[in-house]
Amino acid sequence: MTEPDNSALIKQVPFVDYLVLGEEPYLISNECNQCQARYFDRRNACARCFGDQFTKVKVASSGVVTSFTIVEMGPVPYVSAVVDCDGTPVRCTLIGVDPTPEKVQLGMSVELTTYSMGEDSEGTEAIAFGFTSAR
Ligand SMILES: [Zn+2]
Repeated sequence: MTEPDNSALIKQVPFVDYLVLGEEPYLISNECNQCQARYFDRRNACARCFGDQFTKVKVASSGVVTSFTIVEMGPVPYVSAVVDCDGTPVRCTLIGVDPTPEKVQLGMSVELTTYSMGEDSEGTEAIAFGFTSAR
């Protein structure tokens, strides 16, 4: 639901640095070379094995909801979830899913999606990611 015609005019930047934008956006993680634990933030050492060598790896863009919380603070309730993407847990917000216990289910299939968080005065658009029901 982005407008492709505007892409030449608006500079897009990812809201978090582990989101890689493009035709098919994806998440990238730092994988420990010793134990394959994956982290989205930058680490000096692995929390599991204290290894200090990491390789950037692409994370699967679809997965299943393994836990969720319906957050009712603020004007609009939303769903905060953990999605298991082929073994990599991803904390995210569910997009386009009614924030009700009837609509959100453990084990539901979801896929990565991106959305605009708005533009600054120079026309730079911040892009955030979430997960939405898989088609
Ligand atoms: Zn490790």
